[in-house]
Amino acid sequence: MSNEAITASPKHSGTGVDYDAIIVGAGFSGLGMLHHLNELGLRSRVFEAGTGVGGTWYWNRYPGARTDSEFYYYSFSFSREIRDSWKWSERYPAQPEVLQYLEFVAEKLDLKKDISFNTKITRAEYDETRNIWHVTTAQGEVFTARWFVSGMGVLSAPSTPKIKGIESFKGQVFQTATWPKEGVDLSGKRVGLIGVGASGVQIVPVIAPVVKDLFVFQRTPNYVVASSNYKVEDDWMAKIRTNYDEIHKQAVAHGFAVPFRKPAVGARDVSAIERERVFEEGWKEGGFHFMLETFNDLATNEESNGYASDFIRRKIRETVKDPVKAELLCPKDYPFNGKRPPGGHGYYEAFNRENVHLVDIRANGIDEVTETGVRVGERHVEIDVLIFATGFDAMTGTLTRIDIVGRDGLVLRDKWKDGLKTNMGLAVNGFPNFFMILGPQTPYANLPVAIQEAVGWVSRAIHYAEKNGIVCMESSVEAEDAWALEVHRAGSATIMAQGGSAHAWFLGANIPGKPREFNVYMGGADIYFRRCEEIASNGFRGFHEGVLATA
Ligand code: NAP
Repeated sequence: MSNEAITASPKHSGTGVDYDAIIVGAGFSGLGMLHHLNELGLRSRVFEAGTGVGGTWYWNRYPGARTDSEFYYYSFSFSREIRDSWKWSERYPAQPEVLQYLEFVAEKLDLKKDISFNTKITRAEYDETRNIWHVTTAQGEVFTARWFVSGMGVLSAPSTPKIKGIESFKGQVFQTATWPKEGVDLSGKRVGLIGVGASGVQIVPVIAPVVKDLFVFQRTPNYVVASSNYKVEDDWMAKIRTNYDEIHKQAVAHGFAVPFRKPAVGARDVSAIERERVFEEGWKEGGFHFMLETFNDLATNEESNGYASDFIRRKIRETVKDPVKAELLCPKDYPFNGKRPPGGHGYYEAFNRENVHLVDIRANGIDEVTETGVRVGERHVEIDVLIFATGFDAMTGTLTRIDIVGRDGLVLRDKWKDGLKTNMGLAVNGFPNFFMILGPQTPYANLPVAIQEAVGWVSRAIHYAEKNGIVCMESSVEAEDAWALEVHRAGSATIMAQGGSAHAWFLGANIPGKPREFNVYMGGADIYFRRCEEIASNGFRGFHEGVLATA
């Protein structure tokens, strides 16, 4: 997708509606979308449940929350003013800084005037007779618009498992995804943590030195890749500023939407000594560099993946001094990449502290929560605070937890109950003039780059429709059938297909009862972006049936 400037010339058919476009969510997606639609000259309104902008970065305020991507590709590159005036302070920015960045974006692009905060959307219904959307807030107000866009986020509908006895617990209970704004004083407390995904992995080393005891209830161990964090010095920031366009271009040409070198060889194609050298170098560089810049087949070839999995297990055993804890922390029954690997900042090291206890719940899970703690088999662990870091109903949760009602009363969650159908994760048949920024079946990738591409594409689509008098943009059935097949084909060819036993969210396997299928496109963000560009250049083929009426 190109980020070409779009000349503002839409014909408004806006009489009788409150807005040209309604967008839900004021995170990266909603802010980017609003800015682009403002540039088109549309009257848009964003509805946001929180009291401020930020989305994920507004809600996830747990100690240790920070990006797993480096700052220079975890930001928007479309605004020169923002690029030139914002300075990042850390290689992996912490939550408060990303939130400040998004506030800065909203300020600089003058977006807040078009956002209603504290306003949760509960229902959106397409009105076929008028070809508009009626959008209902939790307060019961109804607003109308010609275009309806979801920017509700991919990992934004928290999932809290129902554990027997939880309501009887007399201590405090928190969820990482809805951490209190005012913070939580955990000093001197006995804390239980359920969940060792990216969220749990980040919170452990930060709270371990503060709490009296930390009990980590682990069901499935993760492959946590070291991330070395450091300050962004002025000269690095200056260099990034002059190269933002090139960085974005490189990211768009990469399968994971990051501006990384693409390795030329597979792990099984080199000698054992060379393999170790490359893995070691990637490990030092840290985070996604290990996963993406060492060898080109870690996500596709079992043998090569096995070398990477072994390497990480060796690192765990070298780091964690207690051999029993080390073995428990080593994932053994699913491969590296079978779950989204989190970046660690002293995670394994934290288990060398005497006050950090690992409670293995692999065999039977947690039996019950009591008034004073957690019972696992014969063992009762006394705690004061229980933290859930138990993930999200990913990709679809935000869209299916509210009522999105399309043509003929079709509800989106019903449409998807037996399997996902979308056109490129951007639109859905039966839901005219509705777009999703990062809907299900969009790429498994670094999100800000994917979002920047998606908001650019959707604004081009809307502009195209308005310019050509297309009043109904609706995906064709054929296009979404073809995309569902491609998502399945691409995902099945990867190691990620083995993530089911590890409850990977990208397979929907972390939510009981959710259909087990690829919720994201594993075929490569670069390929996806090229396909989107091709569709746009060909008159948004597959996204409308032509000029149905003039506006
Ligand atoms: P997650 O990766 O889905 O991990 C959830 C954890 O909760 C797992 O360890 C899971 O165990 C455990 N769990 C769930 N239900 C349980 C139960 N009934 N009993 C015991 N344990 C249970 O969730 P997440 O850590 O929030 O991360 C989700 C995604 O959000 C990440 O993969 C990443 O894409 C994104 N994220 C990114 C960052 C970042 O970039 N810095 C930070 C946080 C999150 P099982 O594995 O056994 O199911």
